[in-house]
Amino acid sequence: MTRKMKALVKAKAEKGLWLQEVPVPKIAPDEVLIKIERTAICGTDMHIYGWDEWAQKNVPVPLVVGHEYGGTVAAVGSTVKRVKIGDRVTGEGHVVGRRSRNARAGRFHLDPDTKGIGVNLPGAFAEYLALPEFNVIPLP
Ligand SMILES: [Zn+2]
Repeated sequence: MTRKMKALVKAKAEKGLWLQEVPVPKIAPDEVLIKIERTAICGTDMHIYGWDEWAQKNVPVPLVVGHEYGGTVAAVGSTVKRVKIGDRVTGEGHVVGRRSRNARAGRFHLDPDTKGIGVNLPGAFAEYLALPEFNVIPLP
């Protein structure tokens, strides 16, 4: 049985956000499942909510939105080493590829395959978020 959670979803290509039930994300071996406890609204979210020209060009529909958040680790993939269940964390929202010349040289900010949590990938205005361990930032 697929576990469900509540999430704010850009469900239609028009102004608005919709509270919906969606599946809890499944994690890959290098990913962390974060139980979201706090979120904040970013300017980007206002563009997505209003469905302006930028949002229409960049945001796939349907998509769980949101990328400013804190929470605790609820599950870890089999290769995750830096965090464990129960750790308080947040995350960097730019999920980079690992194949481009720039990414392989450590210049992740120049990776052309970069995707954004809550912009092109499922986001954090939800009960759970799946995030690569590489992007997870432990909190004190
Ligand atoms: Zn932001």
